Amino acid sequence: MSEIIKAPRGTRDILPAESWKWEYVINTAAEVMKDFGFAQIMLPMFEHTELFSRGVGETTDIVEKEMYTFTDRGDRSITLRPEATAGVMRAALENNLCAQGAFAKLWSWGAMFRYERPQKGRYRQFYQIDAECLGIENPEADVEIIDLSIELFRRLGLKNLEVVINSVGCENCRKIYRDKLYEYFSAHKSELCESCLARLERNPLRILDCKNPECGKIADGAPDIYDSLDDDCREHFEKVRAGLERLGFKYRIDKRLVRGLDYYTKTAYEILSGDLGAQNAVAGGGRYDNLANAVGSSVKIPGVGFACGLDRVVLVMEEQACSFGKIPEPEIYVVADDEESRKHAQILTHKLRNAGVHVECDISGRSFKNQIRNASGCKLACIVKDGKFEIRSKDDSGVGIVSKILEREREKFVDIKNVLAQKSTGFVDKALEILEHERDHVTNIKNVLEKKRAGDYSDGIVKLDNLDEAFDYLSANL
Ligand code: ATP
Ligand code: MG
Repeated sequence: MSEIIKAPRGTRDILPAESWKWEYVINTAAEVMKDFGFAQIMLPMFEHTELFSRGVGETTDIVEKEMYTFTDRGDRSITLRPEATAGVMRAALENNLCAQGAFAKLWSWGAMFRYERPQKGRYRQFYQIDAECLGIENPEADVEIIDLSIELFRRLGLKNLEVVINSVGCENCRKIYRDKLYEYFSAHKSELCESCLARLERNPLRILDCKNPECGKIADGAPDIYDSLDDDCREHFEKVRAGLERLGFKYRIDKRLVRGLDYYTKTAYEILSGDLGAQNAVAGGGRYDNLANAVGSSVKIPGVGFACGLDRVVLVMEEQACSFGKIPEPEIYVVADDEESRKHAQILTHKLRNAGVHVECDISGRSFKNQIRNASGCKLACIVKDGKFEIRSKDDSGVGIVSKILEREREKFVDIKNVLAQKSTGFVDKALEILEHERDHVTNIKNVLEKKRAGDYSDGIVKLDNLDEAFDYLSANL
């Protein structure tokens, strides 16, 4: 196949067979965000390169190796966003969202770009759902962010997850810790991988994050960060832990969890899935009290947030057979025979769609037979012929009709309850009157079922004389 019609390496199309699942995850996220009071923010997909090199950090893998950076026609260095937090902070600073002690709870979702080796769960264009709480230094904000991410996964039905947390301290603690790490790893130079030797000079903390098992073994024996934490960082960490325990969350502490971005301070955490193999992190986040200053703000704006890998979440949900809600299917298919009927069908479809009904109608000139075949997947088919409208329920079994009657009956119960609650004059009579009707419904149901048993499917077909009647019937019976 010609290269031109192949998606670039590490990118892929999310086709209709998949995209409805993504929509479900994003809609669920939007609901969770609303419940937690996070408002959506939409950000540019590219920013000035410096925002990331200074924000994410010069010594990170992202900035060193993974960014899509180019010079635009105006000679500016531009980078496709590799992550969202720096952009959210930039937007908050530019628009004064955190002026005079105000705080902002923001979320967004969209594509991120990193030049990585593509594999399952790792792409060059991937998608994240992101939530950031800016302007609050309290550990309650950390707890709320972690709670939010866990709640998202709970609502999506993900199982087999593990929450891992750590504290990476503030800048002061890290300076001390860095020296200790330098000393420790220097004594193990011969056992470190090539990248870690470079990390040793530039940022020894990054060695703790190395995926190489040899380096991992050495990192396991590295000094403990807790011994380098000052009182404030230690207390913050204790409060986050206490908050998580108060909410009943289980978590594991991993002193090697430092996250791949330099801006983290104090809390760092990840949510891991037992069903993802090597790419096992479905979300990661933490606190970043120095990010604002790192990107040039003169005021301190603390923050805490998380990003969840949408591609990986969909993968895990598929693996765990989680529900993605219902596949969107038309409720009605309008089938038309001749030219004149096609016109009626077009108007009926238009009116039903105006009324918010999911309707399909052939626009490609298919034969009547083919249209009928397409309609077979729908709950209802409306057949237009000689100016008349015939409505057939999906399998003509009458189940639809029975459930509709039962539905109405439920409403009757509400009516009876209301009447009884009013206790006004004649309320008993009214209630009895309703019950009388109800008996009719029960008789109706019995009749329908008995006819079905006798093999009579005529109740599944309703014949109507004109378009208005068809519209009224269809919109009332969905
Ligand atoms: P990893 O350790 O898997 O490389 P990371 O620490 O680089 O992850 P973050 O920057 O924390 O990732 O991004 C948050 C989430 O975004 C990750 O937990 C993951 O689910 C997702 N993610 C990161 N990089 C990719 C990618 N290249 N393709 C798909 N999802 C990704
Ligand atoms: Mg990574």
